[in-house]
Amino acid sequence: MVEIVQKEDPVLRGRAAEVPIEEIPTAKIQKIIKDMKVALASQDDGVAIAAPQIGVPLRIFVMSGKVFDLLRPDEDPDVVHEDVVFINPEILKISKERQKMEEGCLSVRWLYGRVSRAKKATVKAYDEKGQAFTRGGSNLVAQIFQHEMDHLDGILFVDKADDVEELPPEEIERLKKS
Ligand code: ZN
Repeated sequence: MVEIVQKEDPVLRGRAAEVPIEEIPTAKIQKIIKDMKVALASQDDGVAIAAPQIGVPLRIFVMSGKVFDLLRPDEDPDVVHEDVVFINPEILKISKERQKMEEGCLSVRWLYGRVSRAKKATVKAYDEKGQAFTRGGSNLVAQIFQHEMDHLDGILFVDKADDVEELPPEEIERLKKS
């Protein structure tokens, strides 16, 4: 069990440090990435996680393979998508066009709100093998990029959100049923 820290924890409020590229293959960094994947997989509603959320102040986030299932609902359910690891991510391009999106956070239970996010974003990062790559996305993927990169700079979505309300899991279940 890897613990996900909650919003009062100061690790969520600092600027996370870059990972030295030559350290990516080390057992230390690989263990952090593994722990992040475990923590993310433990949350039914989790689509991504940033290293500070498991108490590690480094510039790493992981996007769940689940995101691809959400994007491609008609796909064969046996297709398994790997989680995508972003180390030292930087925004290369971001659209001027924005939209208000519903947002929550594994470290801000159980608040939800609406946040203005750029519709499209392209990120440059290193993967868990230390290879540089770029990846673009729109809507949910662009939102995840922006939410996770905010985490690396000590920003939580509630800092920017409107219409924040508390929806404990029992409440969500009830809404789903009704
Ligand atoms: Zn979050």
